[in-house]
Amino acid sequence: MRRCGGSGDRRRARGAQAREISLKPVPFAYVKPSTLSQVHQLLDSCGEGARILAGGQSLMAALNLRLAAPKLLIDITGLAELAGIRVVGDRLRIGALARHREVEISDLVNRYAPLIAQAMPHVAHPAIRNRGTFGGSIAFADPAAELPACALALGAEIEIAGPAGRRRLAAQEFFVSICETALQPGEVVTAVEVPMLAPGFHSAFDELARRHGDYAIVGLAAHGCCQSGRWRELRLAFFGAGPKPLRARRAEACLVGANLNAAAIAQAKSDLAKDLDPFDDIHATAATKLHLAGVLLERVALRLAQ
Ligand SMILES: Cc1cc2nc3c(=O)[nH]c(=O)nc-3n(C[C@H](O)[C@H](O)[C@H](O)COP(=O)(O)OP(=O)(O)OC[C@H]3O[C@@H](n4cnc5c(N)ncnc54)[C@H](O)[C@@H]3O)c2cc1C
Repeated sequence: MRRCGGSGDRRRARGAQAREISLKPVPFAYVKPSTLSQVHQLLDSCGEGARILAGGQSLMAALNLRLAAPKLLIDITGLAELAGIRVVGDRLRIGALARHREVEISDLVNRYAPLIAQAMPHVAHPAIRNRGTFGGSIAFADPAAELPACALALGAEIEIAGPAGRRRLAAQEFFVSICETALQPGEVVTAVEVPMLAPGFHSAFDELARRHGDYAIVGLAAHGCCQSGRWRELRLAFFGAGPKPLRARRAEACLVGANLNAAAIAQAKSDLAKDLDPFDDIHATAATKLHLAGVLLERVALRLAQ
């Protein structure tokens, strides 16, 4: 017969207490709502004390390091309306809860947004891609992350749901600074919509990282249309080269309409210093990053033109 409160229970309780003390994050409450309106109510009532939990691949690390200490975690993975990948009109809609792995193996992504398909194997490692979500990466807005730069290069729109309703923001307006976005208190990213690949357009992606799967030191997501050796349109979105993903507009202007030759590429590379805003970190100096951005520009521009 098992006796409640016996010495065994006390030992277990002491063990549990010891385990509680050794927990890495500050204690938090957890809730898993099933509708967006419940999420908005919870965010409204808890304010700054609540955080949304999606794949947990960035947030849990922040909690364990005590860089974040929310009182309440709102797990949104039960919201069916944020899931899935589908075509809507002339756009590809990637639900905020689509896992990186789901995006990586999606035929729709491969066909209609090949830039994202090319980038996906560079996003972290397989175990992290199994849990991390597309919307989580967009909302987290790490300046060295691949997917925000892809969204910028493709002219994607971020769909946001808040207590007052839904709104859409161009990627260009959504990313504000290091891990900072235009999301307002109480708002949730619900999906990212990407224009489907138009005839004549191509994408190319490359990054330089210490090890495959690490965050990039510098990376480039490029999308454009090249006809008879001349660029008709070109978008160059660099990441790891500033506080947010950055379009290299001067470099783009050098290449669009010009013959794609060594002189045009050299001019575009020299203009990167005005377009980008890299900073020193433990991996590389700003000067090294600028040099690497030029290396990527040349590689990617030539690959795209082919
Ligand atoms: C070892 C390691 C290596 C990694 N390497 C890379 C890499 O190379 N490239 C890369 O891009 N990423 C990398 N990541 C991060 C990974 O891609 C994460 O999955 C991603 O950044 C966040 O997605 P998530 O679903 O896990 O979000 P979570 O960790 O759950 O949330 C991250 C933040 O976004 C908020 N949030 C999440 N979803 C939403 C939403 N729908 N609306 C509003 N706010 C939301 C959360 O409140 C939280 O503040 C790495 C992670 C680890 C642990």
